[in-house]
Amino acid sequence: MGTARTDRSSELTIVWFRQDLRLDDNPALIHAADRGRVLPVFIDTTEYQKAWLPGQASRWWLRESLLALDTALQARDSRLIVQKGDAADTLRKLVRRTGATSVVWNHRYEPTASRHDARLKQTLRDQGVEVRSFNGGLLREPWEVRTEKGGCYKVFTPYWNRAQRMSVHDPAPRPKRLVGPEQWPGSLSVQNLPAAKVTRSCAQRLGALWQPGEAGAQKFLRRINAAFVTTYPEGRNLPADDATSRLSPHLHFGEVGPNRLFAALRRHTGAGATHATIDGVDAVRRQLGWRDFTNHLLHHFPHTPNAPLREEFTKVTWREDAEGLEAWTNGRTGYPIVDAGMRQLAETGWMHNRVRMIVGSFLTKDLLIDWREGARVFWDRLVDADLANNTFGWQWVAGCGADAAPYFRIFNPVLQAKRYDPQGTYLRRWVPELASMPDRYVHEPWAAPVSVLNEACVRLGRDYPHPIVDHAEARKRALRAFAVLKSS
Ligand code: FAD
Repeated sequence: MGTARTDRSSELTIVWFRQDLRLDDNPALIHAADRGRVLPVFIDTTEYQKAWLPGQASRWWLRESLLALDTALQARDSRLIVQKGDAADTLRKLVRRTGATSVVWNHRYEPTASRHDARLKQTLRDQGVEVRSFNGGLLREPWEVRTEKGGCYKVFTPYWNRAQRMSVHDPAPRPKRLVGPEQWPGSLSVQNLPAAKVTRSCAQRLGALWQPGEAGAQKFLRRINAAFVTTYPEGRNLPADDATSRLSPHLHFGEVGPNRLFAALRRHTGAGATHATIDGVDAVRRQLGWRDFTNHLLHHFPHTPNAPLREEFTKVTWREDAEGLEAWTNGRTGYPIVDAGMRQLAETGWMHNRVRMIVGSFLTKDLLIDWREGARVFWDRLVDADLANNTFGWQWVAGCGADAAPYFRIFNPVLQAKRYDPQGTYLRRWVPELASMPDRYVHEPWAAPVSVLNEACVRLGRDYPHPIVDHAEARKRALRAFAVLKSS
């Protein structure tokens, strides 16, 4: 018995890090540490990727997160070995060079990644290598939640009702000790990776606002106290309030696992919890449920990043409008809430969820521009760019996804702004041209009399654009375009 244990503990396991850049509650890492020696590896595969290459904001985040992970590993006498190339080749070479007997990883759910992983598993096993993969990123695996007939869900509420009846794992603490290989293989520098190339100005801008890595995630996680959950259900719709967790980039890169967040929420549901707190906990959990659900959809409908889930939407004729797309992208549509959102995105790499819905509705309905154009702009600029969430966020907005807003529900950008930012605090923060505009006109500056505009020093058309479309007219145009769906 004793001898077997000693032999086993000298065996080397490669832990292949991808979107699980943490030590806490990392099932692949914990498995490897229990098994013996651990070789933590990250492989930059961007040169081999054909689609959805990471955008500028994601690349910056990844770079910082890898540096943070390496620092955390070094504090445990370990380190991150960084390579670039084809993942299968690189892992096979590392196995040969280091004598590793096992390779482990946590799942990714993007269609190309999961197809690749399945092939890789087989190749490594054929080579005699032990391979294990784990769920380190979702509350429940996309294939675990099934309808009574064994199928998949297309509507969130029944999905969530079913999922909630299934157990979740308690998070596991980070391994106390990590024993490395007898000889460390060489490593590239994170800064030189193709996936980490960003402009200095992007790095400065985002670096002033975010702290990628586990420590940054923990900072936001600590905000999840009773006051946070109690105000969340209302506050999550108010873009001027800092009432949401801002954990999305940390969750995307796996710097915190959803089980850890779930456990943090559970602390507020014990004896003495008020109804308001319990409702708040349910509301945050539901959002984590949406995150699982979009991955469930992406797993079962892998074509959806490029095509609508509801096939009838292929009949819609979207407009080619380069000028409109440019005005939207640069926050110059003349609709303050749309412009504020797009400028928040450009400046911070993040946008409030309510505003994501408003700018998305404006692009796909008021401008009648294909949702995929919007998804690409978000992909390049979001620090939390995530194939499942972005695809289904956009499909929801356009009306062609699961549970989507019906095509005839077209957000009025002025009414949305008045309802969710009544004093125009968010608008003024991100559209400084409107800083001195009285509350009454801040949502629709074109309605202000010239004397008010003069006093607020706003010259419509010069400082701040006139609306590029008339919402009422644009709404009618969208309804005409979507009429092809009526027969479906
Ligand atoms: P919180 O409100 O604190 O929610 C906690 C966590 O739940 C989030 O961090 C996120 O992981 C998850 N979550 C929250 N809302 C949703 C949702 N609607 N769908 C799925 N998961 C959710 N989210 C991304 O993470 N990446 C994207 O690329 C992305 N693109 C989007 C595009 C559009 C057009 C829309 C409408 C939404 C998109 N979302 C995306 C979902 C949502 O806007 C963000 O997850 C949320 O704003 C992140 O802020 P938070 O962390 O403060 O969220």
